[in-house]
Amino acid sequence: MSPSHKPIVYIISAPSGSGKSTLVNELLKLVSELDFSISYTTRAPRGSEQNGKQYHFVPREQFEQMIRDDEFLEHANVFGDAKVPGDYYGTARRFLREAGVHGHDLLLDIDVQGASQIKQKLTDAVSIFVLPPDRKTLEWRLRHRGEDREAVIARRLVTARREIENYSKYDYILINDKLEESSESLQAIVQSERLQRSGCLLSSDEKKTVELADRHRLANVRERVLPILASFRTLPAPAQS
Ligand code: ADP
Ligand code: 5GP
Repeated sequence: MSPSHKPIVYIISAPSGSGKSTLVNELLKLVSELDFSISYTTRAPRGSEQNGKQYHFVPREQFEQMIRDDEFLEHANVFGDAKVPGDYYGTARRFLREAGVHGHDLLLDIDVQGASQIKQKLTDAVSIFVLPPDRKTLEWRLRHRGEDREAVIARRLVTARREIENYSKYDYILINDKLEESSESLQAIVQSERLQRSGCLLSSDEKKTVELADRHRLANVRERVLPILASFRTLPAPAQS
């Protein structure tokens, strides 16, 4: 344990249904000394979600009190618009403090608005955007997850298009087509950042890890992202009912 450890903050964002939680769960099992920041939210638990595990589920009044008490590093109202109020989601400051005390790094699973707030405050945070291979696949994954009503799925698809337009603000882009490959690449990104910041001479295996991570850097994937973006632009917007 190092009392002076400055955690590397990894931000991971994705349109809902892209497979981010699946990838994050796998990552946390396979990579050590990486803490997960359990966000606070006012949305209701889904499926088998448990309070304090995936999220801290709190009433709106409690969340608004936490905002007034400046307990959040960032917070956002997600899936809201002029008609629907949406739900609050926020990252508590204490997770960053605690990761530092334990000598660990910290993983934030947050939306595009939250990611940009964090990048302004913590400029050396590493941001990763997970994309589905195309819109049809995203719609299929949302339906087959079987946790959301049709109206919620429709809203998530509209939000997805808006979110994907922001892909170029991220350091790394991970197109989640084959799960095993995506999982390996996500691990490589985390390890590569650690290796490069360690200042140590890299072994040949470590260099391969850095190479795999680099394949997912924004500049190296732009060409592959454009058709994905187009698939969201050309298909008709889903019904809102
Ligand atoms: P998110 O956290 O981004 O909302 P989930 O991790 O809940 O998404 O994944 C949405 C659904 O897609 C889940 O049913 C999950 O099992 C499935 N899924 C995730 N990644 C893949 C993949 N690469 N190929 C096929 N299905 C996937
Ligand atoms: P879900 O309801 O599907 O779990 O998450 C909805 C969205 O909220 C996802 O894009 C997720 O990344 C985002 N989210 C989860 N926690 C936070 C948070 O603490 N802050 C912000 N800004 N977004 C969050």
